[in-house]
Amino acid sequence: MTIFSKIVAGEIPCYKIAESDDFLAFLDINPLAIGHTLVIPKKEVDYIFDIDDELYTGLMLFAKQVAAAVEKAIPCQRIGVAVIGLEVPHAHVHLIPLKHVSDINFSRPKLQLAAEDLQATAEKIRTEFV
Ligand code: 5GP
Repeated sequence: MTIFSKIVAGEIPCYKIAESDDFLAFLDINPLAIGHTLVIPKKEVDYIFDIDDELYTGLMLFAKQVAAAVEKAIPCQRIGVAVIGLEVPHAHVHLIPLKHVSDINFSRPKLQLAAEDLQATAEKIRTEFV
């Protein structure tokens, strides 16, 4: 069971942004930028391009909806999208508010944010999710 499946099962907490029957969005715990959000299928599949077409399309449409909320809530130029997957073997789309191209450089040190700040950011994005 991946760490993200444990989040889906409620065994590990997360700063939840949005949820549907098939998908979940929550804040990255070690973000590259404030508002850095992960969107996952609840079904555990490691590699994003192994996901079947219907679920893959649904994931991208759900990520689009989440990105709109992040963009409204967090001051930025636009939302960057990345799929890496070298750390957690459970497909996930990174949504990262960009002010500069370096905001999406995964080799950079991650931000260390306090729990209250992550909580406040999640609330802000949640209120913008429609
Ligand atoms: P990747 O697999 O795309 O290389 O990176 C996995 C991402 O998941 C990283 O950005 C990391 O900070 C994030 N991450 C790893 N474990 C957890 C966790 O337990 N909770 C949350 N919210 N994010 C996590």
